[in-house]
Amino acid sequence: MTTAPERTPAPAPDPLAEPRPSFTNEGAATVLSHLYGVSGALSPLHGERDLNFKVDAADGRRLVLKLHNPVDSAAVVEMRTLAIAHARRVDPSLPLPEVVPTVAGAAAEPVTAPDGRVSEVQLFTFLEGRHAKLGELGDRALRDWGRTVARLGRALRGFAHPEAAYPIQWDVRRTPAIRDRIGVLGDEERRLVDAVVDRFEANVVPRLESLRSQVIHNDMSRWNVLVDADLHITGITDFGDMTHTALVCDLAVALATVLAGREDFFDAAEQMVSGYCEVTPLEPEEAALLGDLVAARSATDVVVTIWRLADHPHMSDLPVAPTELLRLFDRTGFEQAASRLERAAAGLPYRPRTTPELASARRKVLGPLETSYDEPLHLVRGDGVHLFDADGRRYLDAYNNVPVVGHCHPAVSAAIAAQARRLVTNTRYLQEASVELAERLLSTAPDGLDRVLFVNSGSEANDVAWRMARFATGHDGAVVTRFAYHGVTQATTDLSPEEWPGGFAPAHVGLLAPPPTQRAKDADVVSDAGAVLDTMGAGGHAPAALFIDPGFTSDGVLGPAHRWLRDTVTAARGAGALFVADEVQVGYGRTGDGLWSIGPSGIEPDLLTLGKPMGNGFPVAAVLGRSDVVDPFMTATGYFSTFGGNTLACAAALAVLRVVEEEGIVVHAARTGAYLRALLDDVAARHAAVGSVRNWGLLLGVEIVSDDGSPDAKLASTVVNRLRRLGVLVGTTSPAGNVLKIRPPLVLERREADEIAGRLSEALAAAHS
Ligand code: PMP
Repeated sequence: MTTAPERTPAPAPDPLAEPRPSFTNEGAATVLSHLYGVSGALSPLHGERDLNFKVDAADGRRLVLKLHNPVDSAAVVEMRTLAIAHARRVDPSLPLPEVVPTVAGAAAEPVTAPDGRVSEVQLFTFLEGRHAKLGELGDRALRDWGRTVARLGRALRGFAHPEAAYPIQWDVRRTPAIRDRIGVLGDEERRLVDAVVDRFEANVVPRLESLRSQVIHNDMSRWNVLVDADLHITGITDFGDMTHTALVCDLAVALATVLAGREDFFDAAEQMVSGYCEVTPLEPEEAALLGDLVAARSATDVVVTIWRLADHPHMSDLPVAPTELLRLFDRTGFEQAASRLERAAAGLPYRPRTTPELASARRKVLGPLETSYDEPLHLVRGDGVHLFDADGRRYLDAYNNVPVVGHCHPAVSAAIAAQARRLVTNTRYLQEASVELAERLLSTAPDGLDRVLFVNSGSEANDVAWRMARFATGHDGAVVTRFAYHGVTQATTDLSPEEWPGGFAPAHVGLLAPPPTQRAKDADVVSDAGAVLDTMGAGGHAPAALFIDPGFTSDGVLGPAHRWLRDTVTAARGAGALFVADEVQVGYGRTGDGLWSIGPSGIEPDLLTLGKPMGNGFPVAAVLGRSDVVDPFMTATGYFSTFGGNTLACAAALAVLRVVEEEGIVVHAARTGAYLRALLDDVAARHAAVGSVRNWGLLLGVEIVSDDGSPDAKLASTVVNRLRRLGVLVGTTSPAGNVLKIRPPLVLERREADEIAGRLSEALAAAHS
């Protein structure tokens, strides 16, 4: 085995310590005339490590002569030159300088200074403008700054060069190395910098390699960005800190270097961050690290400037602003500071009102609009089957059926965001999305339905279904169940006895007794439709439509009742009515019996209405119908809805259908529904307060009764509020208000079903103790 001879490597020049090239004005003028054939007046410009001159050339041109720091090799200078050219090509509207070649056609040339050191020299076009003063950048200018940083980042995305990874301390990723120079700091700075580096090592270092990385400008500070009198950006200069690193560092550096020293740092940062995110939305991981990266850049500023001040006083001023920023982070708490920046990246106001403040502000402007639960929830985030409140507490959402594939499903959110960036327009134009969505819906719908009409809510779907039924039949009567809910418009409130104020009973609406509870009793179930229709007829109201929610959700969660429904539909059709299956509540696989709950009954509805889950939270709804019903109405009325079926709504709805299919949501709902049902049966066996349990897939009802078996709405409400405190969200339903309504997002897993049953058991036990 041989040992390599020991050699002491020549100490590499320290890029931070190497003084600027030592040319005088005259020396620089000589270089200018020799290499470029240009003569003119030279005046010095700002430069941290390079020597820069403004040139007023004799031929009238204004130029910038740059003598690079001697540590910057020809290859590094070439990298910067090619990067500028690349960015100019990709986004010609960016205000970037242009390299003026030497007489010999070179983009840069080495020149030797009087002290013998060699520098690369370059000539650039001059960019008009001045440096912005601390504090003068208002919201608009700050957003513009953020957008410009992001645009330059995008323009550099495709750029690569072997020298791009050369080591430079201004790469925020190298923050831990500032510990080597920490000895020069005073006590306060040292404590602040230590805290930053400790956090950096714990939070940032483990994630660095997974962040989006590319070549970035890395120094969009007030000294490198030029503005006009209106603070519009007119120039970007100094590519000397450019390096291949995490993309988000570009924003972190801009925040740290433009805003350090401002008392309204967080307000201002919110503007800059949101401007940046308009062009390049941050990934969650980047947003979470932004605060630490800003602090890291400021810590580096503090250390490098103090260290330079000690050894090279001519190269530095006191680092007042970056120290101020670190103090602000320290006072605010680094965690809090980081979360403010993270919230800004997510578009959330970083100074939210407290929950009591919000509750009282809400009362002032929204009036008596009810909130759920005795203690209203102040929600800030949703993810899958979970909701999170302002204090970061997690709740299992066993109530909301709108986010059918889970809160904020990434595929749905991404589809909405992408479409919002591309095109948002209405159905008066040919557009792929509405046609594809209609085709997909019809391909899954019961036979006979061959038309789709898009609207914005379940109420609107039922409202227009009602209009079509009246138009088609010439009748004016409606038949619904006794405690039905079909919507919020004038016409659909008439169809919603659940909402009727005392004494209100529109003469044209007949009320059916809903079927008794479960499948087992199906054979005994008799519809009273005949009698109801007779009474209506006697009152002069022939029925235009029978509206039924096949899950009977507001009547107390009573489905399925296929035979009852078949008998009722037959009777209503016999009297001339159309049948409207209201799938707003139970459609999209909730029953686990197929996408639409009406399927297993074998009934072919005349109209079928959809809503709630259709866009997983994005407002979109539809009526599916037979062309012989829909077409004459459309032709006669010229029906059109501005937002109904717009490209954005269709993008959301198509994404939901895709996820439902890809994730096997319907089968999952059937399985998890049966599993949860069995758990709830077990809870019922152990608690006398549970009367009956019913389910159809993941639509479940748990009847709460008092000791004598009568409905106990008060106890149901106590249980619901206790469950809320235990972190599980459910609601109540039924005419007596005593049935717990459990209808979670269909992505509920078994362990979450266990949690629902376990907490319910706890809540029941506590309510009785
Ligand atoms: N029909 C049924 C069965 C519903 O449950 C609802 C909403 N709860 C609606 C219609 C009305 O839908 P929206 O609130 O979207 O207008």
